[in-house]
Amino acid sequence: MTVVTRFAPSPTGTLHVGNVRTALHNWLWARKHGGRFLLRIDDTDLERSKEEYVDAIRADLAWLGFDIDGEERQSARFALYEAEFAKLKAAGRVYACYETPEELDIRRKILLSRGLPPVYERKPDGAPAPEGVAPHWRFRLDHDAAIEWIDMVRGPQHFEPKTMSDPVVRRADGSWLYLLPSVIDDIAMRITHVVRGEDHVSNTATQIQMFEALGATPPAFAHEALLVGTEGKLSKRLGSLGMANLREDGIEPIALVALLARLGTSDPVEPVTDVAPLVESIDFARFGRAPARFDEAELALLNQKILHHTDHAAVADRLPTPISEARWNAIRPNLTTVAEAAEWVSVFDGPFASPAAEEVDRAVLAAAAAAAPGVDWSADPWHTLTGAVKDATGAKGRALFLPLRRALTGRDHGPDMAELLPLIAKDQAVARLSVT
Ligand code: GLU
Repeated sequence: MTVVTRFAPSPTGTLHVGNVRTALHNWLWARKHGGRFLLRIDDTDLERSKEEYVDAIRADLAWLGFDIDGEERQSARFALYEAEFAKLKAAGRVYACYETPEELDIRRKILLSRGLPPVYERKPDGAPAPEGVAPHWRFRLDHDAAIEWIDMVRGPQHFEPKTMSDPVVRRADGSWLYLLPSVIDDIAMRITHVVRGEDHVSNTATQIQMFEALGATPPAFAHEALLVGTEGKLSKRLGSLGMANLREDGIEPIALVALLARLGTSDPVEPVTDVAPLVESIDFARFGRAPARFDEAELALLNQKILHHTDHAAVADRLPTPISEARWNAIRPNLTTVAEAAEWVSVFDGPFASPAAEEVDRAVLAAAAAAAPGVDWSADPWHTLTGAVKDATGAKGRALFLPLRRALTGRDHGPDMAELLPLIAKDQAVARLSVT
């Protein structure tokens, strides 16, 4: 059996962190099993679906590195839905309904006021249809067949169809609601695993009967716990945190992927630079049932850690300005984003004005300025230079290193000076040390 998963966004907006997580888990699962990962654009709502969102979804998935093995659009498949709908109608599994939303609302309230569950009450068979009213359509749940499945995240699930309303699958204007087309497509596309948020669990219960009514075996299901913000709630921020924001903040796609792959699972979040270990480790049995907390600060920190061992080749075409491999390797432990690399260019090549020297540091700097011209820049200049300054002034430790670092880089912290100094042109370095 070839594993086939799908990510099925509605193009009514751009992707946010929550749906990217679902896409990722589907993609990882397909890759782990040498299967196929499909993008299904759920654009049955023609009014709210926008082509610009379809483009943005594709671009975001490409940025994240989720390669797609096929793309389908629901709006191109209405003929298939029509045909399958006709079969269900002929079999009596969908039926026409005529209630207005107001009537349904009143019925619901009456049932609730009597302490009864607000389940839709079917009209008796053969009840007269009101004249001139276009019907909407419900799927007839089989009340005698308990619905059960072993969810890959949640374990055994059990629903009693008698306690559930027959779901509306088609509106009076002929347009489709999400439930039935999704099942028709999952069958046609031979989807083997449906991975989605736990907000779909009760949909799944009704959809399992739709699979069966259409003569298909339902796929396996994994319903993941929802993603929440640091405050433990489905925050507005999280719902609107898009890939464009993250890109702007300098978040590397692999950082987001590394976090979302493991968040809420029993595997630790690790600063990986490649997806291979994440593909290897995905296992729905290790997904927790409690909401997973997404923390932007954790993402920023992970991004930083990942950059610290990201190879030059992986960033070369995105560097804000060309930077050699040796220079990249020297500065990467100090970067929080790739864009920050630009700030180091002037440290290497100038123009650069050293900060005014403090009184206590003058002797060290003067000794360094005197020694630097004679230092061989091709052979560990930092140790030669600091050795000479130490001999001349007796300074050591911080009193020796800090004034030199400040004069040479303008900062108190930064890359290992032994690695950095050979990458700064010698005449630049000499000039910076001669500030006193
Ligand atoms: N378009 C649906 C949604 O975004 C797809 C759900 C599913 O994966 O079946 O909720």
